[in-house]
Amino acid sequence: MPLNWSVTYRGRIAPSPTGLLHLGHARTFYTAYRRAALAGGRLVFRNEDLDPHRSRPDFSAAMFEDLRWLGIRWQEGPDMGGPFAPYAQSQRRGRYLAVWRQLFASGCLYPCTCSRRELARIAEAPHDSSPARTEADETPMYPGTCRPNPGIPPPSGYDTPTGVNWRFRVLDGEEISFTDEHLGRQSFVAGVDFSDFAVWRRDDVPAYQLAVVADDHEMQITEVVRGADLLLSTARQILICRALGWEPPQWYHCPLVLDEHGERLAKRHDALSIRALRAQGRRPEDILGEIAM
Ligand code: GLU
Repeated sequence: MPLNWSVTYRGRIAPSPTGLLHLGHARTFYTAYRRAALAGGRLVFRNEDLDPHRSRPDFSAAMFEDLRWLGIRWQEGPDMGGPFAPYAQSQRRGRYLAVWRQLFASGCLYPCTCSRRELARIAEAPHDSSPARTEADETPMYPGTCRPNPGIPPPSGYDTPTGVNWRFRVLDGEEISFTDEHLGRQSFVAGVDFSDFAVWRRDDVPAYQLAVVADDHEMQITEVVRGADLLLSTARQILICRALGWEPPQWYHCPLVLDEHGERLAKRHDALSIRALRAQGRRPEDILGEIAM
């Protein structure tokens, strides 16, 4: 794509159609919209319907409608077109494959045959009576079962990722720091805060971390606005960018909206979905007042 947007702010909103959007999404996406507007930039709507087992067309239709109802507007997206179409992840597989190939060639991936069940069992039944380690974002810490020993050459003979999980090997002890535009300096340590993470699933679905890095790069996103629950994913994505020789975007993490028990909202909090609040007669300005930071 020959367009050079490098001097223009390019933001994105990237909802997943796996449930109804709630107040937390409203905060993040409204913030993204405002930051793009204040910078005189452009906002991309990307439908993150990556997971065919969890994405649903009715949730997809609802998220477009709810965000418009809130007053959010975008300049590129599945409904608007734009220079980086398609804007739905389910239609971008070829790009993810190309990035998988590039990562594979750089030697930072290895195949992993652990099943989900096996990983859950390891997380529940720690050996040596040490407590089960969980990454700060609740991903179970990968115990390294399939990690090749040092000195073993990287795997060869794969030209597609199909049939096995693929993990990105982190460098234990490596510090990943960045300055968040909202939260300030952030720092995480690979092997402590998070471990080798999945970039491709054995059911042949690209993993979130790989797809997002591929898309943000190709769509020339200059700033990613997202919820603070994704801080560790940001650290993982910085590692993917480094492995590919790509400059990461800037980051702006929004504080999470909590329910009355102090728990973060999840898509299962249907009573606090934008849709339910609309049905109760709440107006967009009431919602925006509630999520103001
Ligand atoms: N699709 C993700 C979500 O809805 C957000 C992706 C991101 O900000 O990278 O939680």
